[in-house]
Amino acid sequence: MTAARQTIHVGGEWRAALSGATREILDPADATPFAVVAEGGVQDTDDAVAAARAAFDDGSWPRTTAAERAALLRRVADLLERDRELIGALESQDAGKTLEEGRVDVDCVRDAFLYFADLVANEDAGGRIVDAGSEDIRSVVVHEPVGVCALITPWNYPLLQASWKIAPALAAGNTFVIKPSEITPLSTVVLVELLLEAGLPLGAANIVTGPGDTVGARLAEHPDVDLVSFTGGLVSGTKVARAAADSVKKVALELGGKNPNVVFADACATPEDFDTAVDQALNAAFIHSGQVCSAGSRLIVEESLRERFVTELARRAAHIRLGRGTEDGVECGPLVSAAQLARTEEYVASALAEGAVLRAGGERPDGPGYFYRPTVLDRCDRDMRVVREEVFGPVLTVETFRTEAEAVALANDTEYGLAGAVWTSDEERASRVAALLRHGTVWINDFHPYLPQAEWGGFGKSGIGRELGPSGLAEYRETKHIYRNLAPRPVRWFAGETRKDQA
Ligand code: NAD
Repeated sequence: MTAARQTIHVGGEWRAALSGATREILDPADATPFAVVAEGGVQDTDDAVAAARAAFDDGSWPRTTAAERAALLRRVADLLERDRELIGALESQDAGKTLEEGRVDVDCVRDAFLYFADLVANEDAGGRIVDAGSEDIRSVVVHEPVGVCALITPWNYPLLQASWKIAPALAAGNTFVIKPSEITPLSTVVLVELLLEAGLPLGAANIVTGPGDTVGARLAEHPDVDLVSFTGGLVSGTKVARAAADSVKKVALELGGKNPNVVFADACATPEDFDTAVDQALNAAFIHSGQVCSAGSRLIVEESLRERFVTELARRAAHIRLGRGTEDGVECGPLVSAAQLARTEEYVASALAEGAVLRAGGERPDGPGYFYRPTVLDRCDRDMRVVREEVFGPVLTVETFRTEAEAVALANDTEYGLAGAVWTSDEERASRVAALLRHGTVWINDFHPYLPQAEWGGFGKSGIGRELGPSGLAEYRETKHIYRNLAPRPVRWFAGETRKDQA
């Protein structure tokens, strides 16, 4: 294990926590520590916010042109390309992903930087001209950076979630303080190093590694923070919104999901189509051991197809190869922590107690690490906790329907609304169901892909606001209307005194 690293970056200086506290970072594949980071606290956070504030109020970054900002983001993309293997391996070890997933994450992070670079570079810098109905009025709407942004991120996609915030925040000309998950902070520290290497002015990017209830909570309430963008669970997200309320800062929340994967029998008419639908249902539920906000954790399958579909799904789930993400042939890594493993075990136990039928998994394999076997729970219903609450583990529940209306009702029967899919060969049905699903992303005959150009976010308790796409940039901006009168004249609303003088 390496010595404690200085993982707090404030105003251009890497440093340890003021208290001297540190935290061991565990490899979830064997539960042993492999790095030590600084465990920041409230004073470290205040220092970081002060640095970001000074860099915003008096520094050069908010005053750069869009072309300059785009150029920096593209340099970061090049550096990510250069360090792809290194960062991919780090992400794999820290978050328990396969090495290939780690590499793909780095590619997606690079794409986010390139997307927001192109978006600002191609904008009309003059703003939107408004027709005020008079030749004497020049009216224009412009967008400006919002100010100091607090960015709080989760452990499942540490670098990717950070990039969906950092890239648009910088593209818009903001300065920021980021607080990565205390469980998986390492790749975000590396990303801040790359921003500095790319030439970002000191103070524009600050990072405080540390816990949510101190560093995160302080960022959310801090009066000098103008915006807090949070990705994480519902419980922490509501705390962030409450803490942010007193200072009326802008709040963006990307929270959890309980995402339906609706399969109609007509999607499985041929053996090839059946294989595709089963394969994608496995991918939807079990990629990254189900620790995905958009995991397709609720299979909602037409009753006539259920037995055949679930039998094949369970057979294939039982063959998923678990192991350390860097080992050849491994398809699924461990859960991220002992707490996440315990949570998964508890949900499976509660489901079985409530009458679910175990078709695959339901146990940990022998050996070290936080592994749990991909689990298929048949005969579930909408009242079970495992169907209603986010497990965030490799657990797939199965419900059935007989009519299209029933399928839609089940799919929408969640307090969340992040993502969902419908599988059907009937194009009209696909459009009808897609229109009725109350989810921020709807896939038709697919599951999981996203595009940096298309907004990501949720209905209901899945959050407030959107990341990616033009709206993902708009989150980091204030809008200003500038109204210029070329021929000012008195208004004469308060004309009494004038009339008296004239009399
Ligand atoms: P979490 O809520 O426990 O933690 C998220 C972050 O918030 C961490 O950095 C944590 O330290 C911090 N935090 C915790 N308490 C805080 C507080 N009181 N004030 C401020 N910050 C605080 O979530 P997690 O377990 O790290 O991540 C899993 C959750 O994230 C899941 O619910 C998942 O669905 C969600 N998620 C959502 C998306 C999305 O795009 N909607 C993406 C990834 C993950």
